[in-house]
Amino acid sequence: MTTIFSGIQPSGTLTLGNYLGALKHFTELQDDHTCYFCIVDEHAITVPQDRLKLRNNIRSLAALYLAAGIDPEKSTLFIQSEVPAHTQLGWMLQSISYMGELERMTQYKDKSADREAAIPSNLLTYPALMAADILLYQTDLVPVGEDQKQHLELTRNLAQRFNNRYNDIFTVPEVSIPKVGARIMSLQNPLKKMSKSDENEKGFISMLDEPKKIEKKIKSAVTDSEGIVKYDKENKPGVSNLLSIHSICSGESIASLEQKYAHKGYGEFKQGTANAIIEVLKPIQDNYYSLLDSEQLDSILDSGAEKAALTANRTVAKAKKAMGLGRIK
Ligand code: ATP
Ligand code: MG
Repeated sequence: MTTIFSGIQPSGTLTLGNYLGALKHFTELQDDHTCYFCIVDEHAITVPQDRLKLRNNIRSLAALYLAAGIDPEKSTLFIQSEVPAHTQLGWMLQSISYMGELERMTQYKDKSADREAAIPSNLLTYPALMAADILLYQTDLVPVGEDQKQHLELTRNLAQRFNNRYNDIFTVPEVSIPKVGARIMSLQNPLKKMSKSDENEKGFISMLDEPKKIEKKIKSAVTDSEGIVKYDKENKPGVSNLLSIHSICSGESIASLEQKYAHKGYGEFKQGTANAIIEVLKPIQDNYYSLLDSEQLDSILDSGAEKAALTANRTVAKAKKAMGLGRIK
């Protein structure tokens, strides 16, 4: 059976972008694949985090995975820092990662741009840890949003480099990017991707936003002064982003939405978009609140970490042997 791995950072509450670009697809893959879904908290500390907020975000993310439909009977759900094999292999892979290729990563460039003076060194080495996350499970397929394509290419290069230099132990994974929803844009700047760590809360819809807040954020989303609901990514990025969101959430095609709102203003179009989002998020939110403080959540994460470690430790042992670390036992 094909093995799937994907991770999400507990760097804030998940956005609609995270849901449409990633989480929504995870649930569709569970039936016919061996799935590992991870809360990548060690990635989150590549930018400064508040200790208590991080703890809350980790638990919240676990509950959201489950509320959105991840079934612990079918998938392994766990926290990255509870499986030490991730940082072990991450360190080994750093030794075959080059400064030049790491510095070329757009995520590194974007996230370090506003921190000239104090850039944490693991913001640069992040892709080696991400490669470890994936390679530990002999992953065949990684479902992610478009922004992760470059990191996946590097993961493939590192796997091949390790296999050629030491021993052929890693499966070289393929990336799976959804045809629609792979890059949901910020509501305030439709040229920038929607991100959960955006300082401007108006730029994203959180998966836990209440209906009134969703309406308010969509109503203040940046569009243009033309007043025509038409998909044109180049010239109308704001309207096009809302059309994509509306279409994925409601299941109606973009062409049919263009017709529906042909002689109507942006006000009505935005109300329709907000309604479609609320319809998708409301049932997930209801599930979420019943899971958040449950003991069930802890036992799912305990057994997830245990199960993940079994496979991950085997891969680390092989990698150590291939590189000559430790002793032969
Ligand atoms: P951060 O700003 O902290 O990096 P993020 O919103 O980018 O947060 P990640 O945890 O880095 O979220 O990514 C989780 C998953 O969501 C990845 O598969 C990523 O490709 C996907 N993703 C992130 N942003 C978007 C987006 N705007 N549209 C579609 N998919 C997205
Ligand atoms: Mg990100």
